Amino acid sequence: MRINDFRLSEHFNLREFQCPCCHTARVHPRLVRMLESLREEWGDPLFLTSGYRCVSHNREVGGVEGSLHILGQAADVVVYGPKQPRFVQLARQEGFTSILPDYERNYVHLGIRNE
Ligand SMILES: [Zn+2]
Ligand SMILES: [Zn+2]
Repeated sequence: MRINDFRLSEHFNLREFQCPCCHTARVHPRLVRMLESLREEWGDPLFLTSGYRCVSHNREVGGVEGSLHILGQAADVVVYGPKQPRFVQLARQEGFTSILPDYERNYVHLGIRNE
């Protein structure tokens, strides 16, 4: 059995959120619910390039200190640059509070802050 191979929702598995360096996985349930709902609206699969990051991995990839990735409250989703405006609009409607599109690298950072 592969560690973290665990279905979280219809379209997401815990493995997709695990840290690439240590395979630690931490994910906020609300983040999963919101990604699932966004996926429905978007209509296409969402591929994550980054979910949870341990502190050292976050440093390695140049993530900001206190990044929501360290808390399991953010995911980076592959979205082709020209399609990002529509995606960002849907993400905003869904209630994501941290939305950072990267046009050049074809991904959008989605995060939820603590309430
Ligand atoms: Zn790690
Ligand atoms: Zn990110």
